[in-house]
Amino acid sequence: MKTIEHWINGAATTAGSTRTAPVWNPATGAQRAKVLLAETSDVDTAVAAAGKAFEEWGSASLSRRSRVMFAFRELLVKHETELAKLISAEHGKVVDDARGEIVRGREVVEYACGIADALKGGYSDQVSRDVDVFSFRQPLGVCAGITPFNFPIMVPLWMHPVAIATGNTFVLKPSERDPSASNLVAELYAEAGLPDGVFNVVHGDKVAVDAILEHPDIAAVSFVGSTPIAKYVHERATATGKRVQALGGAKNHAVVLPDADLEYAVNHLTAAAFGSAGQRCMAISVAVAVGDAADALVAALARKAREVKVGPGDDPSSEMGPVVTGAAKQRVENAVVSAAEQGATVVVDGRGLTVEGHEGGFFTGPSLVDNVRPAMDVYREEIFGPVLAIVRAESIDEAIALINDNPYGNGTALFTASGEAARRFQREVTVGMIGVNVPIPVPMSYYSFGGWKDSLIGDSPIHGPEGVRFYTRPKVVTTRWPQVAQSVEAAFTFPTSH
Ligand code: NAD
Repeated sequence: MKTIEHWINGAATTAGSTRTAPVWNPATGAQRAKVLLAETSDVDTAVAAAGKAFEEWGSASLSRRSRVMFAFRELLVKHETELAKLISAEHGKVVDDARGEIVRGREVVEYACGIADALKGGYSDQVSRDVDVFSFRQPLGVCAGITPFNFPIMVPLWMHPVAIATGNTFVLKPSERDPSASNLVAELYAEAGLPDGVFNVVHGDKVAVDAILEHPDIAAVSFVGSTPIAKYVHERATATGKRVQALGGAKNHAVVLPDADLEYAVNHLTAAAFGSAGQRCMAISVAVAVGDAADALVAALARKAREVKVGPGDDPSSEMGPVVTGAAKQRVENAVVSAAEQGATVVVDGRGLTVEGHEGGFFTGPSLVDNVRPAMDVYREEIFGPVLAIVRAESIDEAIALINDNPYGNGTALFTASGEAARRFQREVTVGMIGVNVPIPVPMSYYSFGGWKDSLIGDSPIHGPEGVRFYTRPKVVTTRWPQVAQSVEAAFTFPTSH
C-alpha cells in the first residue's frame, strides 16, 4: 500500500512520522493509500526549512517571483488531466468537475503572475517643503495554510500563490482525506524553479494543526473548513499573535421569485445542489420558493433530481460521484430521515442508492425535501451532501429575513426577471457573495472570496487584493534630502506640513 509522505525543503520525506490515516477511493469504498500524520517535531522541521528559505525568497526580485508563477501556471495546464484524475480518485467528484476546480485555482496563479502590479505602492511628492512620502508592502515570513477535503487543489491555490508571490514562504497542511494533489503541486513548484523550502507540505490531523497554531515562527495562518474548527483556529492562532483568515461552513439559499424563468432556475439549482454531491461551500442547500413559484418549482426539481446520473468520478457519463467517506454518507442519509421525522416532505429520497459494479462505494443519490421549516435539523445543520431543502415563503421580504436570520452568510442567489428585486436583494442580504441568476457566485481571482457571519471568522477574505493585503504589511517612509548648504531647523513641536 502506497504511503503518502510530506514534502519538506524540496523533497518527499517521512520526517519523524509513524502514525498514518487511510485514504479511500470513495467510488469503490476501498483503501487506496495511507497518509503520514505529522508530529509536532515534523511541523518544526517544515517551519525551519521555510524560515531558512525566507532569508533569500523574501528578497527575491518581483520579476523572479512572477516568472516562477508563470512557469507554475504552465505546469498546472500541462498536468491538468493527471491532477483531475488524482482528485477524483481520492475525493470522488467527477473528473470534469475536478478540472473545473483546477481552472478556478489556476486563475489565482494568473493573478499572482501580475504581482508586480498588485504590489505597487503609493508616492506623494512634496507633502511638505522638500519632503516626500512613499509606501510599500513587505512579506510577513513563514505563512501556513490548513485546508478542507472538498477542493483539494483549488482552496490551497487560493492561498499559496498569493503568499509566495508576495515573498513569503509557506507550509500547507492539506486535508488528510485527499492529500495526494498537494504533493504533485509541490513537485510542479520545484519544476517551475521555486527554491527548496519555499513551499512545504505537512500531512496530518489535529496534532499538526495545533503545532501550526502554536508555532512562534509562523506569522500568519489561512484556514478554510467547517465553522467550529474555523473558530478554534482563529482563537488559538490570534492568541499566539498571528494574523488569521478563517473561512467556515455555509448554508446557501437560492430564492426563486414567481417572475423567474422556471426552466432556467430548475436546471441551475439542480446542478448547484447536486454537483460534487453537494460538497461545495457554495453549493445551494436551500431553495426558497416564493409565492406561486413553489408547486411548479418542486415538481420540476423532483423530475430533474431523479434524472441526475450518479456514478464513479472516472466515468465520463457520471454527473455526480459518491460522497467522500462512509461516515459522510451516513450523516447525509440521517439528515433525510430526521427531516421526515420532523415533519418535512421527502419528495425524492436518495438513500440506499447502489451503483452497479461499485457496490462498496460511498454513494447516496440526490434528495429533495419540501415544506422545510427553519427549526428543523435539515435546515439548521450544514449537511454537506446532495440534499436540497425547499422552504416556502410568501414574499421576497420573508425570503430576505430568512437568509438574514441564518447564522451562515457565505453565498446566496436570486432567480428573477426584476432588476428592482435584484438590487434590493443584493443590498439587503447579510451574505458575502451574491448571485443574480447565477447559482454559484464564486468571485473571480482578482476579487476576493469570503462570506459574512459564521462563514468567515475574523475580518479577512481570501485571495485577490485582500490576499495581497493579508500576506504583507505596509511601511510608510517619509524622506527629506536637505541641500547641504540649507539650514534646517528641527522643531520640537509635532511635525506638520509647511
Ligand atoms: P474540517 O473543518 O473538518 O477540516 C478542515 C481542516 O481542519 C482539515 O485540514 C482538517 O485536518 C483540520 N481539522 C479537522 N478537525 C480538526 C480539529 N478538531 N482540530 C484541528 N484541526 C482540525 O472541514 P472538511 O470536512 O475537510 O471540509 C468541509 C467544510 O469546509 C464544510 O464545512 C465547508 O462548508 C467548509 N468549506 C468552506 C469554504 C469557504 O470558503 N467558506 C470552502 C470550502 C469548504
